[in-house]
Amino acid sequence: MGWYDLSDLARALVVGLFGLFVGSFLNVAIYRLPREDMTVSNPKRSQCPSCKREIRWYENVPVVSWSLLRGRCRGCGWRIPWRYPLVELLTSGVWAFAAWRLAPEQWGLLLVHLLVLSGLIVATFVDFDCFEIPDEVSIGGMVLAPLVALVLPEIHSDTALARHLAEGAAVGRWPAMVATLAGMAVGGGILWCIGWIGERIYGREAMGFGDVKLLCGAGGLLGPGGTLAALLVASLVASVVGVANIVRVLWIARARVRRRRAARPFGRSFQTARVIGRYLPFGPYLALGIGIVLLAWNDVRAWF
Ligand SMILES: [Zn+2]
Repeated sequence: MGWYDLSDLARALVVGLFGLFVGSFLNVAIYRLPREDMTVSNPKRSQCPSCKREIRWYENVPVVSWSLLRGRCRGCGWRIPWRYPLVELLTSGVWAFAAWRLAPEQWGLLLVHLLVLSGLIVATFVDFDCFEIPDEVSIGGMVLAPLVALVLPEIHSDTALARHLAEGAAVGRWPAMVATLAGMAVGGGILWCIGWIGERIYGREAMGFGDVKLLCGAGGLLGPGGTLAALLVASLVASVVGVANIVRVLWIARARVRRRRAARPFGRSFQTARVIGRYLPFGPYLALGIGIVLLAWNDVRAWF
């Protein structure tokens, strides 16, 4: 049985199963990339962050081990965050979906998609944790995009600019490279401008430079139109979540006022809401927008 003999569903399942194990590796990357004293390959074996006990292979089977151990370290009972199985399931799910969407002949494109989706998952959870996007992901994307345009120009076969330049023929290297550079300029340029204006208005950093680099790299893979769509999706979801967050904090404040009948907690809670708003990372929403456009550009375009 080869790759081409498998049905669409079987291919998705095989890729999804690989995704589970890669998700386990992404957990390691998410934990170690922001830490100066560790690299992805050093130390070789994973340790419990609490008691430093080495984790055996059978305690490291994706999802299964976490469920059997009931989310606790066998040495010290440290609560293993549910993020670990979540990242494994998420990686598996998006990998399976990517394999299901693409034709079996598009395996080159599939490899690029799997790599990019994995990077987006890492960026999302590192940003939630540490309010930064690792350069390995953002600069990695900026290096990857032009290389892909050379090796796999078909990645821009649905990019309007590349199609226009190809004049009806299949999209070759030159149109793909122009679409890549234009997408990088649009993605990096817009966020850089927003950040620059925000800094003038608020007098402090309004847009992390990690976000600028992330959308710059993604822009090279999505083309100019796809990049704008990704940014729009990201902004929409982020504002919905932002409003929900403020409502939640106000709700908590009201409950507190009722319970304690104190005079000032409302003001303090409002302060909390502002702080939450200030440190609301944008990277996860960008990653979501990029992932959606990457996996379903034609549907997104039809929807707009
Ligand atoms: Zn432990």
